[in-house]
Amino acid sequence: MHSPTPREARIAVIGAGPGGLTCARVLRRHGIPVTVYDRDPDAHSRDQGGSLDLHEEDGQRALREAGLLAEFFALARPEGQEARLLDATGRLLDHHLPDEGDTARPEIDRGQLRDLLLRSLDAGTVHWGRALRSVSGPADGPRTLEFADGTTAGADLVIGADGAFSRVRAAVSPATPRYTGIGFLEAWFDDVETAHPELSELVGRGSAHVADGERGLFAQRGSGGRLRVYLVRRVPVDWMAASGLRPDDTEGIRARLLDEYGAWSPELLRLITDNDGPYVDRPIFALPVPHTWEHTPGVTLLGDAAHLMPPLGVGVNLAMLDACELALALARATTLDEAVRDYERTMLARSTNLARRLEGATGHLLSTPDPAEHPQPAHTRR
Ligand SMILES: Cc1cc2nc3c(=O)[nH]c(=O)nc-3n(C[C@H](O)[C@H](O)[C@H](O)COP(=O)(O)OP(=O)(O)OC[C@H]3O[C@@H](n4cnc5c(N)ncnc54)[C@H](O)[C@@H]3O)c2cc1C
Repeated sequence: MHSPTPREARIAVIGAGPGGLTCARVLRRHGIPVTVYDRDPDAHSRDQGGSLDLHEEDGQRALREAGLLAEFFALARPEGQEARLLDATGRLLDHHLPDEGDTARPEIDRGQLRDLLLRSLDAGTVHWGRALRSVSGPADGPRTLEFADGTTAGADLVIGADGAFSRVRAAVSPATPRYTGIGFLEAWFDDVETAHPELSELVGRGSAHVADGERGLFAQRGSGGRLRVYLVRRVPVDWMAASGLRPDDTEGIRARLLDEYGAWSPELLRLITDNDGPYVDRPIFALPVPHTWEHTPGVTLLGDAAHLMPPLGVGVNLAMLDACELALALARATTLDEAVRDYERTMLARSTNLARRLEGATGHLLSTPDPAEHPQPAHTRR
């Protein structure tokens, strides 16, 4: 099969998340043309969610290759590295305060990160409102992208950066994500500093993890006084419908949570019940471990599409590292195929190794480790 050079090829990235946008940015820095397709109608049509810590060794490394590290640090919150571990009575078990000048894992709002990456791309690079349905075409030739709006596009290389329920994945692997048995229920506070100073004091400037062995919560500060709380519960995937609750029945869900978390201290219960807006159900899925595939010319995957793992603080960093390494491999290689093989060799070995270590680890979010044995908070342990 003839494999074109990266500079003459039509490269399509599916997904304008942190992985897809980082890949596009690093490719453009090396003069390689790229088109990104995303199903969202536009960049701000959907709340981008909470805060992400970007690590020196992966997420920050990718931003350095993207030429965006200084802009990242102008937005990042190093103070967000503060982490507290509490028991269900509200007793502080462990408290990590970052040293002055510590920038190993600063936090940034997910929306700020997406905007930073989008601003760095030429207008028109991202085609919004294009939900991919499938990838077709011969294994030895260009691929056809089929979108939900009935349009199609051709590509010599399709990069699946389309997240947990990737539509590109089927072109390389039959694997599908499985429910881990753990559900996150997301709640948020718009301005905790003014409206709930006692909760601001309780969580501090970073995050707080509380658990009693059966259930947990993870509270995370964002910019502008926002606070996001993930209630971590061992529940069936359809727990809400099975309990006769609807997603917009905020009072019904609240009553159920008061029942489940009733033995927790009144102060902690306020984190669960005094939230603004509705609760958002986020069942946690993961790909089978290991997830690998035979090299397939013209298609590859990165980030959650390649290796969806439980959310234990590595997902975005791995997605951005994959993205940067794939783009650099394309900048170095003489053919698309050589670049993708190089990238997959490293990425699949790394993600398999990490996925094995994190398999089943979501349960850690339901218990508080002994701080003497585990000086770092549970959610950041590797
Ligand atoms: C509740 C929760 C909390 C988390 N917290 C953290 C954390 O604190 N730290 C951390 O590192 N990780 C965290 N993660 C994991 C992290 O969110 C992911 O690992 C990371 O976002 C993966 O990036 P990505 O670019 O691969 O995919 P995504 O961020 O999922 O981006 C995928 C993009 O593809 C688009 N898309 C999807 N399907 C299609 C389609 N068919 N056609 C076109 N476009 C499509 C989407 O609109 C989206 O823009 C968390 C995950 C969850 C669920």
